[in-house]
Order: sequence, then structure tokens, then C-alpha cells
Amino acid sequence: MLVVRAIEDQPEKGIKKGQKFRLYIVDAHHHMGREKGHTNTPPGAYEFYALLWFEMQRMAKDLKENDALLFEPVDVVPSTLPSKCFSSRKSWARLNHGWLVDRTIVFPFTDDYLGEGKGASFKVSNDKIAGWTTRAPHSTRLIGFARVDPKDSLRSKNAAVRELTRAVTKLGLRGLKLHPVAQLFVEEIEDEMTLRIVRKAGELKVPIIFDTRNVRTAQRIHAMVETMRNEPKYAKAMKGLKVILAHCGMSPGDPHFHELLRDPVIYGETSTLHDQDVPILFRTASDMLTNAGFHWSEKLLFGTDYSFLSVQAADVILHLLSRDFLGSLSDIQRILGGNALSLVGTPFRTKRMAHENPRMLTCTQKKKSARSVLETSLIARIAEGVLDLASLDYMLPPKTTWPDLRPMSAGGDNGIYFDSYFMTLRTRDNAREFIVWVKSHPNDMISCIILNDYKKATMLSTELAQQKKHPILSTDLTSNSQLFSTPNEFTSAIESMLR
Ligand SMILES: [Zn+2]
Repeated sequence: MLVVRAIEDQPEKGIKKGQKFRLYIVDAHHHMGREKGHTNTPPGAYEFYALLWFEMQRMAKDLKENDALLFEPVDVVPSTLPSKCFSSRKSWARLNHGWLVDRTIVFPFTDDYLGEGKGASFKVSNDKIAGWTTRAPHSTRLIGFARVDPKDSLRSKNAAVRELTRAVTKLGLRGLKLHPVAQLFVEEIEDEMTLRIVRKAGELKVPIIFDTRNVRTAQRIHAMVETMRNEPKYAKAMKGLKVILAHCGMSPGDPHFHELLRDPVIYGETSTLHDQDVPILFRTASDMLTNAGFHWSEKLLFGTDYSFLSVQAADVILHLLSRDFLGSLSDIQRILGGNALSLVGTPFRTKRMAHENPRMLTCTQKKKSARSVLETSLIARIAEGVLDLASLDYMLPPKTTWPDLRPMSAGGDNGIYFDSYFMTLRTRDNAREFIVWVKSHPNDMISCIILNDYKKATMLSTELAQQKKHPILSTDLTSNSQLFSTPNEFTSAIESMLR
């Protein structure tokens, strides 16, 4: 997390000079794998973020001297649980750095493994992404997206759709990257072969990030969405469809681009934008995205496009901290991370899950924090290799009402519920997978739901307010609930279920 300090009093926002705030940052566009001169793996990502922080501090110094900043970046701190996981094993501990960015959405390059093996393009690449993103300790920081080539359908009609389904339901990848230029389908964006894939992504409720280099491509993507909206056979897909236009169509000030963002399912991502592009993007968005049924800052996501691009991402962060940016800290938090997490939207799960009834365990935390006893014990099992951690997903506020940030002197809340989360765990033999859903309650109670039913897991949302909408879950739970009075009993009961 990036710690920023208010440079002066901002009475209209209730902010005092010197107050510090924590911003949770998600990079929504990041490549891993190998493509010609580019190679990147998790350690490369963390090193890049350390470099980005170094560069940002240098740039911030100049900006501060010119009185351009409203908040100055002063520190980088990890969130507790991921950092605990990294420091639990010696070979992981040296990677416990680069915490300017807390979470990274990772997908393949148009890489050297592209055509390897039989079947769909990107199969090997998607396997590699899953290998990097769904195991401890990287699973606490990385979110994997798949990539497919719509043109595979020229060889085998449903090859790309099948690969997407496999990547999401078997590997646990949680979104899709499509690249019309690299896979040569710019002219076919509105064609059946692309629609089939987009439809499947919508049905699987995973977001799609499309590379866009100009407004024309972005408009084609929007036209495709409109086609789907108007045809009944796409009704199910439309319910889950979320489309991110990478690089904001490289048209940050073009009203035609911002017109597309008014569509309820379309979003923009900031990588490649730098210098004057950056203030123009945010100014145009806040001018044009009004009276549209959402707040303008819900529509933009921070991304780096590492390793194609590097430290220019600092321009975006520093602009958000500058006097020129007209939004609030809550707008900044949405753009830097909240929106990306909301779009991913569901806890990690795969079809490894059996169909057992969910169980709920609760415990009082009056004397001792049951949450920290449970975390310490689970992290120890992960470090030993008894369990593997496939993902850690914090609960979130509704994106429509992301709260104002609180200064660190008052707890440093930035909207992310660090005490309520989903941990997806796997047994050592990879045969069983569980969601451990930890929720802290205001009355010093903690609840933990153990779930290993894929269908029920797909109904879960990381949005805390959505939880009431899971009736199947709650009927099961009333009959499968146990109350514990000590953290140790609570923890060992949970452990005994994770086998
Ligand atoms: Zn890219």
C-alpha cells in the first residue's frame, strides 16, 4: 500500500495537514511469460514495483518543489496477511518487497509457448499463468487472467471457447485478455467467432480486457456489446459481461471514447497514458461521465502494461495526488484498486471443489483475537506445504458507495475489509479445495464458513453487502453451525475440516 501525507489542510474534505492515508493499489494490466526479448515472472513484477516506487519518489520531489502536489507519497507498507505469508518461509521472504502495488492482474504475452502442444493457442501459457498465480506465496498478490485466440475457430470451431472454459473452471483464472492486433482479428471483432468467446466470458462472469489502440477499435467492441444486448440469446451473458478497454483506446481526451464509457458494462484502463494524456483523461471523464447512473471514477482502472511499459505508470499515480486532480481520496482509491477488485468480484474457486454442505463456525474474540490464531495456524500449514493457498480475496464495499478514506491515526480504513476475506485452500495432493470465508462481526464475534461446493462458490461475491443474497447458503448454514468459546478450539475445528 502506498502511504500518502496531506501537504496542507483541505477543510472542504475534512482533511488536516500531515494526516496520512493508505492506498491499496492494483495493477490491472501486467504480462508474465516469455515473448521474444520480454520475460517476466513474479519476482520480476515485485522488482518492477520497487523500481516504480523509487522512480515515483524522485519525481514527487520535483513536483513538491513546484507546489504541484496535494498529497505526497511517503511510504510503502504491505497488507498484513500477504506479508505474513511471504515471511513464513525463507525462500519466500526475499520476495517480500515491492508493496507499492498490492495486487496484480497477470496474463500471458503473445508468447513463445503460444503454439506449443496440441489444441488451443495459449494453452501452455494459461497453464503457466495459473502455476504462478494460484500457489503460495504469489497467490496472495497475483490474479491470473487467461488469453485465447478467436482465430482458433478457423481450425476447430469451439477450441477457443473450450480453452476459456477450462482456464476459468479448471485452472481458476478469473478473467480474459483479448488482443485484436496481436491475434489479427481487428476486422472480426463483431464477428461470430469473437462473439462466441465474449458470450462465454459473460456466462462465466469473468471480466474481459481488450487491447485497444484507437477509438475505432473501441467503438467496434462497443458495437459488439450492443449487438449482444439486443439479442435474447445473449441475455445470460449480458448479466455477467464486463469489458475493460486497455490503454483507454489511446484516446484520453476523445469525447467518442468517453461516450463508450457511459455504457454500463464498459471500463477503461490507464496503461500507456503519460504526461499530458493523464490529466486530460481524468478531466474529460469527470466532465463527460455525469448523470449516467454511476460515479465517473468507477469507470477507470490503473494499469502498467509491464513489461512492455515501465515507470511511466508513476505519472498516473502522481497526477491523482496532485492539485490538478479534482476528485476525492475515495475516487483515487477506486481508480488505483477498488474498481479492478470489484470487477473480479468473486472469490477464487475451481471445479476441484466437491459438493459438501457448507459449515459455519463462530467464536468470540473478547479476550484474544481468534482471527490471528487462525491465520497463524493456516499460514504455518501453508509454509509447511500441508495446504496450498490458491488465493486470498478481501471483502469490499459496494463500488457505488466506496467510503471516504480515514487517516492512519484513525485506523487508516481505505474501504478494503482486511479482517473479512476468502482464502481458497487446497490439500497437498491437489485433490480437494476449500473456501475459508472469514468474517469479523462488530460484536467481537468472528465467523468462518468452510465451503467446497463449486456451484455455491460461484454465487459468492466479494462485495460484503451482497452476502444476504445467498439464500441457499444461509439455509445450509443454520443447520450446520457450531459455536466455540476459545480461539484454539475454533482453529483446530477448522483445521480438522481442511483435509
Ligand atoms: Zn499489454
